[in-house]
Amino acid sequence: MSEIKENLQQVQKRIEAAATRAGRDSDEIKLVAVTKTRGIEEIKEAVEAGIVDLGESRVQELRDKYDNISQKINWHMIGHLQRNKVKYIMRMERCNLIHSMDSMRLAKKINKRAGMADRVMNVLVQINVAGDENKFGLKPEETIQYLKDVSEFENLQVKGLMTMVPYVEDTEEVRPYFRQLKELFEEAKRAEIPNIEMQELSMGITNDFEVAIEEGATIVRVGSAIFGPREY
Ligand SMILES: *Cc1c(COP(=O)(O)O)cnc(C)c1O
Repeated sequence: MSEIKENLQQVQKRIEAAATRAGRDSDEIKLVAVTKTRGIEEIKEAVEAGIVDLGESRVQELRDKYDNISQKINWHMIGHLQRNKVKYIMRMERCNLIHSMDSMRLAKKINKRAGMADRVMNVLVQINVAGDENKFGLKPEETIQYLKDVSEFENLQVKGLMTMVPYVEDTEEVRPYFRQLKELFEEAKRAEIPNIEMQELSMGITNDFEVAIEEGATIVRVGSAIFGPREY
């Protein structure tokens, strides 16, 4: 068995175990394989092993890979998105979830470009729960008002929230951040803002996806545990 396939099976087992610990059904957790820095052959191996969702953090890299990968794949834009790159995403039909909407200006641009492409773009709002200076995202306390403001836009559909937390050795240290995002998610649900759906909670990477699942993640974004350590 190829190494990637083996790794993938391990990750899937760990997802199931974390879901079981939390009394959840692992079917409600989507695994996005993060392919940044990986070559087409490696990505194809993951696809052959059963992956259907791929994530990229840079638009250019996504564009380079998009046409070379199976038509059945859903692409996720997971990294910080510059407004002048939004138009490229709209041309990629199979990229229909942006995880990193984090400003009003970006929301306006996504809405406008999606309208021009005659589509509705699904988005998650990125929240900087840890208040980490090196990470993008809204402050938690800005979230509800932001959701109300963007709910007017007809060509984007908010589907939930996303976060990146700091890297720590002891992942128990980041559990409170995941818990806080889940609470914010529930609060946003209760607010019943027209046109805003709270279905997806994208949190957890190789280092901490099990804790994220225990705290309610519906999407985990995993790179290194599937493809091995990244070399830049
Ligand atoms: C790179 C990246 C990941 C995956 O990180 P790994 O440690 O390789 O699992 C997840 N989310 C975002 C936004 C990333 O940029």
